[in-house]
Amino acid sequence: ENDLLYRPPLDLAFIFTHAKDNFALQAKLRSAVGSLLQHASAPLRLHLITDEDGFHIASEIITQVQTANQLDLRYVKLVYVSADDFVSEIRESVDLLRKFLSHRSNAYYSDPLFFFSFFLHRLLPGLDRVILMDVDIKVKGDIAELHSHFERFSPTNVMGMALEQTPSYRHMLSVYRKAHPNTTLGGPPTFSNAGDARDTLLHRHGFPGYNSGVVLMDIKKLRESKIIASYMSHSMLTNLTQHYNFHGQLGDQDLYTLIAFDYPDVFYTLPCSWNRQLCVWWRDHGYKKFFNEYWVCNEELKIIHGNCKTPIPED
Ligand code: UDP
Ligand code: MN
Repeated sequence: ENDLLYRPPLDLAFIFTHAKDNFALQAKLRSAVGSLLQHASAPLRLHLITDEDGFHIASEIITQVQTANQLDLRYVKLVYVSADDFVSEIRESVDLLRKFLSHRSNAYYSDPLFFFSFFLHRLLPGLDRVILMDVDIKVKGDIAELHSHFERFSPTNVMGMALEQTPSYRHMLSVYRKAHPNTTLGGPPTFSNAGDARDTLLHRHGFPGYNSGVVLMDIKKLRESKIIASYMSHSMLTNLTQHYNFHGQLGDQDLYTLIAFDYPDVFYTLPCSWNRQLCVWWRDHGYKKFFNEYWVCNEELKIIHGNCKTPIPED
């Protein structure tokens, strides 16, 4: 007898493409799912957005981690979601987004997969709410607790994400910020004593943008959101990227960040504990002085995100 099996299952999704022969990505999935299952207090439906090879590889990995951790195999159901067919279905929209939000210097993020989250209502049409997570994560908390943040959404909140924890949007908005020295956009999230007094004063309570490594998505609200749909147009994207002089390069989170500039109420902000980002690239590329104002999270860590290929320490 096991109480856990009588709870309603939670829907989670992972994107897992180009996985064949990509042993680094496979190892990440192993660590993400292994840690996820160890702390989960509800049965899970894992939607794997992948291809046939990838689904086969993922199924094997997930069965192995369940066996290794002596977990009841009934806790987890795997659902295959074909990315191949979907890429051709959304090709036109993705090309449009890529035109504005992919930078030649960062081709990694121009793969269509980095835009899948906008179309989650078409990828996972039968779901109400889903948590979409990167695979470069380690879970230390109960995913049911993360899921309970859906209950805190306001009527206008379509999705929930934690803030970006680096000055990447400070960089992408540098021209705009020069022209608008009092703007909070791209600034660090809370008052801090780091940096010199003038900078701190000008940019306190800034908006550093969102990170899409962990996304709570209300599928129904996404489908019905006129605001989000309005951003899928050539003229809108032209005006917006010109207005903010915005040179994106990180895929979906660039557009979410742009939407949030004008419509903050579309987004629920998750605590940093649910997406603690380890990437320190910007610290060593011109932003040493400001870096620590962004890279803060003084909470108990529940999901650690080894973004930009940063190894996640054992503990
Ligand atoms: N991903 C994938 N295949 C790839 C690259 C990425 O399936 O070849 C998925 C995977 O779920 C990954 C997510 O896309 O976690 C986002 O990529 P990544 O985590 O590398 O970006 P970062 O967090 O470093 O910006
Ligand atoms: Mn990631």
